[in-house]
Amino acid sequence: MSSPVRDVRRLHRRLVLRSLRDHGPQPRADLARRLGLSATTMTKVVAQLLDEGLAGEGDAAGGRVGRPSTDVRLRADARQVIGVQVGAGTVRLGLCDLRARAREVRSFGFDVTGEPPERVVARIADAAAALAERAGDRLLGIGVAAPGPVDPEQRRNLLSVNLGWRDVAFGDPLERALGVPAVVDHNVRAMALAEARYGDTGGADPLLYVYARTGVGAGLVIGGRPFRSGAHGVTELGHLRVVERGRPCACGASGCLETVAAEPYLAESARAVLGRDSADPLTDLADATGDGDRRAGQVLDDLVDRLATGLAGAVNLLNPALILLGGVFRTAPDPVLDRVGDALRARVFPVLRDTVQVRRATLGPDAGVAGSAAVALDRFLYDA
Ligand SMILES: [Zn+2]
Repeated sequence: MSSPVRDVRRLHRRLVLRSLRDHGPQPRADLARRLGLSATTMTKVVAQLLDEGLAGEGDAAGGRVGRPSTDVRLRADARQVIGVQVGAGTVRLGLCDLRARAREVRSFGFDVTGEPPERVVARIADAAAALAERAGDRLLGIGVAAPGPVDPEQRRNLLSVNLGWRDVAFGDPLERALGVPAVVDHNVRAMALAEARYGDTGGADPLLYVYARTGVGAGLVIGGRPFRSGAHGVTELGHLRVVERGRPCACGASGCLETVAAEPYLAESARAVLGRDSADPLTDLADATGDGDRRAGQVLDDLVDRLATGLAGAVNLLNPALILLGGVFRTAPDPVLDRVGDALRARVFPVLRDTVQVRRATLGPDAGVAGSAAVALDRFLYDA
């Protein structure tokens, strides 16, 4: 049962936890000043967090000799969450700390065309159970980054056009199997949240995260909160039309950004131009262009043009301070990223030109695991 006193205590607890997460170790007096709380209240809240093991005193090494260890810090290993990224044919799971850093990662492949989604969810439960055993009673819950729009209440993946999935339940079966709460969110929105909370973004807000693998997805964080528009909270940047009379898209339309900027298209273009398979099509195409290959140059010109057109639509509507490019773009050579930035600025409204930045995603190859962990941490700790 909720009581006003308990509600206020919970509010103070999460404010302090978030401040320790966002601003690092600090004395009680700084915490109190920053949060506008009295010294007495702060003493009580910190005592509670020390008691729960969520906070510690002194630096991570245990404080310096001769100096009173007055700094309060978050103990990132005190609790854990499991983050699950469901990709096209691959699932990655990580046991993550309170900064969404994966301490242990597992993965498995699945057959997109032959394996029913319920079976994939059962395999996720098995793999997660092994991680849950490692965490023991430190486990707060599990987060799933699903490949498409989700129903956050029912915790179901409503649609994944690239997997051919419709209305797949994740939350209920995972909770039943693991005995801890589960939360499900759109994969790229989860990555955007992880970048905003734990990435090297300098606090840029709004933040737009664009992720290209099998498709092109986008996630937005505005005012520190993940943006969920309408009933399904979708931000389908990949389905903006950037080519008139273009290729048919899995969504039923044609000429979508996804048909000319996702990994399968880039791999196919690289193969056609270079005459071989490429593990990193953008880098190989850029190298070939530097060697004077005009066809490779044309592929990159087209990509820059179309990607900038799609991003310009997002910038003119949403005015992000920072666009992070992830997935296949995370390893793109600097000159390619610079050209995308220049082409984008040439297409957006004048006052927005000087404010928007385009950079690589900062959280590394396990962005989806960090993303689903970030969603779980928000739900089960920092917003709880
Ligand atoms: Zn489409």
